[in-house]
Amino acid sequence: MAEGGGGASAPPSTSSGEAGPATRTAGPAPSGRTLRSGLERPRGIRRLFPHTFQGRLTIAFIAILALTLSLITVGVVNRLGDYFDQQQREDLTARSLGVAQYVALVAEGASNISPVLSADNVVDPRVVVQLTRSTQERILADQLAKADVRIRIGTFIDGVFTPASNGDFEAGLEVGAPVGQTREFITSDPTRYPVNGTLVPYWIEVTLSNPYTYRATALATTTGLLAVIGLLAMAISISAGAAMASRITIPLRRLTEASRGLAEGDLARRVPDDPDQWGSREFVELALQFNTMADQVQESVEIIRRDRDRSRDFLADVSHELRTPIAAMRTFNELLRERAGEDPTARAEFLEASAVQLERLDWLAQNLLELSKLDSGLVLLDLRPDDIRATVEQAVEQADAAARRRGLDLAVSLPEHPLRIRHDPVRVGQVVANLVGNAIKFTPRGGRVRVEVAPTDFGVQIVVGDSGVGIDAEELPRIFERFYRGTRANEARGSGSGLGLAIVQSIVEMHGGTVRVSSRLNAGSTFTVALPRDPRNVDVRPADDPAEGVGIVAETSSTTDLKVNTETAG
Ligand code: ADP
Repeated sequence: MAEGGGGASAPPSTSSGEAGPATRTAGPAPSGRTLRSGLERPRGIRRLFPHTFQGRLTIAFIAILALTLSLITVGVVNRLGDYFDQQQREDLTARSLGVAQYVALVAEGASNISPVLSADNVVDPRVVVQLTRSTQERILADQLAKADVRIRIGTFIDGVFTPASNGDFEAGLEVGAPVGQTREFITSDPTRYPVNGTLVPYWIEVTLSNPYTYRATALATTTGLLAVIGLLAMAISISAGAAMASRITIPLRRLTEASRGLAEGDLARRVPDDPDQWGSREFVELALQFNTMADQVQESVEIIRRDRDRSRDFLADVSHELRTPIAAMRTFNELLRERAGEDPTARAEFLEASAVQLERLDWLAQNLLELSKLDSGLVLLDLRPDDIRATVEQAVEQADAAARRRGLDLAVSLPEHPLRIRHDPVRVGQVVANLVGNAIKFTPRGGRVRVEVAPTDFGVQIVVGDSGVGIDAEELPRIFERFYRGTRANEARGSGSGLGLAIVQSIVEMHGGTVRVSSRLNAGSTFTVALPRDPRNVDVRPADDPAEGVGIVAETSSTTDLKVNTETAG
């Protein structure tokens, strides 16, 4: 039988669609499948991104922050620009007006009582001389306009300004920039100022350009401030992102390591279930769930291992049991073929001994078949609401002849009234027959065997007691094991093979009942089978009646779902 290691009979592993032999690495089981997207080296632009959750979270934080800050900066600078424009316009208009009024004063002063502008639209030359004097230019540009200034004197008729042929003056700003101000290269709308001068009214048009303003400084200060705030926020966000990520990644790492441990066969691996170590409730739940899953995996694997060991032992026991009668028969056969075959007495003796071995083989085969059917769940109970008294009585009757042959007193005590419980009469009969058969087998001549049926809260109780050899305390918990035979089995000339009680146990458990045993060496044994009223609906366990006498008690019991659950007490 091929055995061991696991994977010995596994089909060759080939990845779908791939031709050729699959390569497998030797050594311990792989610690987990590789996730294509997670563990493979990413290609192209994805290579530039961090691969850890922590890195990604931090990058995401920074990206969101950078976007927010850029939007804020654009918004603030825009608003600030609008505000400055507005201010600038008002300021320039006010200054233009100041310049115009000053020009009017100078012009009026220079022309004395003659008109500043003649009827044919020419400015008085004295006015021109006055306005083009450098002191006047400094006053106009550097002090009043604080900008390059253009002054035109002319007429304004029907919405059309017509400058005088010599009425265009310009003065450039020469004074240095006041603190915090820079030149801004803009030109204001022309401001026109009417003067009702002597004799001829005229208009002064003032246009200012390239003034000193606070705009550039203010914008630079604002953007600098925003940049500092941005850097500060970025530093905060990097550390916050890292801290937050580590709160998530530490638990994830812990779970990953525990999963890897489990995958590598460390089934006892668990994650700590202390909520303080996990931070958020979701992780606490995940940890608890993980541990529950690991518990179940461990339990299942242990059950599978136990079953595997049991099957292996069972198989070894079966072959051992088969070998004994076969070996005996082979010996008889060889002896018969030799000289002993000619001796009629020896021949008869060997043939009889062979018949006994054959019977034993047949019995063994039947019991094995029965057990394997019970194990595999192929046996469906034929449950009927019959009187249990009849079932028990019939089984005891069949043992009557054997008891008489052994010189035993076999008696059955049944309740007066019918005791209807739902059971499989054939199988329960088999239980009683096995127990009574054992009692007869292990009770010396002159002893007694008592079978008693009584109603209980649970359903019914069948007690099979004997005054036989009893069972050793150390053996008691093992007698329901397959092929287990007590040390006194041979002494009592028992011909069994240790399957009888295993069959009893299986049938009782299928009925949702329990079987208990109490025994005292050289005083006798008592087996108590408790059967429920209806196996399909077992909601109470049989009352825990104390063991009779001072014997040791072994109990096998089953749960309501008829699962095999053997527990021993004592
Ligand atoms: P067997 O076919 O050997 O009787 P069982 O499974 O019926 O197998 O019993 C297992 C062992 O339990 C026996 O070998 C014997 O040691 C012990 N046993 C069972 N019934 C009794 C009894 N009534 N008195 C003493 N020992 C018993």
